[in-house]
Amino acid sequence: MAQQEIPKEQWAQVVEKPGGPVNYKKVPVPEPGPDEVLINIKYSGVCHTDLHAMMGDWPLPPKMPLIGGHEGAGVVVAKGSLVDDINIGDHAGVKWLNGSCLACSFCMQADEPLCPHALLSGYTVDGSFQQYCIAKASHVARIPKDVSLEAVAPVLCAGITVYKGLKESGARPGQYVAVVGAGGGLGSMAIQYARAMGLRVVAIDGGEEKGQSCKALGADAYVDFTSSKDLVKEVKEATPEGAGPHAVLLLAVSEKPFQQATEYVRSRGTVVCIGLPAGAYLRAPVFDTVLRMITIKGSYVGNRQDTQEAIEFFRRGLVKVPYRVVGLSELQKVYDLMREGKIVGRCVVDTSR
Ligand code: NAD
Ligand code: ZN
Ligand code: ZN
Repeated sequence: MAQQEIPKEQWAQVVEKPGGPVNYKKVPVPEPGPDEVLINIKYSGVCHTDLHAMMGDWPLPPKMPLIGGHEGAGVVVAKGSLVDDINIGDHAGVKWLNGSCLACSFCMQADEPLCPHALLSGYTVDGSFQQYCIAKASHVARIPKDVSLEAVAPVLCAGITVYKGLKESGARPGQYVAVVGAGGGLGSMAIQYARAMGLRVVAIDGGEEKGQSCKALGADAYVDFTSSKDLVKEVKEATPEGAGPHAVLLLAVSEKPFQQATEYVRSRGTVVCIGLPAGAYLRAPVFDTVLRMITIKGSYVGNRQDTQEAIEFFRRGLVKVPYRVVGLSELQKVYDLMREGKIVGRCVVDTSR
């Protein structure tokens, strides 16, 4: 195993028990196995999924103690003996899908996120809220050297996920997509990817600051769920003939919009569920769903090809990510703001402080 100078200990944010908080402390630097790389994480985006993981919101229990994080961008500093297609010094990203078996029927047809043996960064294996993180070489994102590591970090989950979701929606250039939760991390990126893909955007979120951000990122209209008297009507009115958007991307962290989307989606339109509010259920009237030929589907991160495509959009300057950098030591503060819905765009942590 080729090695650079790697310390024995490093700083990390560790969740010791479900519900948190995170504990900023020194932990040992892990060693990569034969098919793994060790990445010196420079920056990591903070996704709402990391907060769900700490809180134990979902039916899938995370490992404990847990080092969260799955938008980690950094430099490869060590690799296992079987790794020959990525080198020490290359820039690479730790994404949600840390590894998959590559041999099951899902992996074989590039549905790696559906692999029953998938390893999830910052959930079933330790993630990027540490200075040195392990990932399967086959799955790490390849990051070109001309790309800023702090700016690209949020692409590694938020970017890939919304890009994939937009493709799953089937919306074509010139058509309208409603982005629900548009002022948050995934939402801000969804506006940008949608624009880059030739789509028009109706952004939905709460408050004036998020409205201004959505407009600045290129949304054609903004509907404020906290003040709108009739959200369904307003969303429809923002689209041609008042017929509603061709697709809806549900990125919000509350259940209500999941019950509401079929009311404003255009007939023959598609509702794509991506956000994962705790304990939430979908509800839609059977009558309308049938007579208006509505499609409702889920979309879950993306595969390796989606990853490289999403990064390439970013590298070409087609998508900008609104982000703010704070020290890794301040992660708990980020979670507190996130819980209150107060983060516009993404927070990115700098692992050197
Ligand atoms: P975030 O906290 O940055 O953004 C969520 C946004 O939703 C906030 O701006 C909030 O104001 C808004 N919101 C809340 N209630 C709303 C409502 N009723 N109507 C409109 N907007 C509302 O979170 P994020 O990091 O963007 O993640 C969003 C969700 O997506 C999380 O549940 C996360 O776990 C999930 N996620 C899913 C996947 C996937 O592959 N399916 C990938 C990444 C994240
Ligand atoms: Zn994520
Ligand atoms: Zn598999």
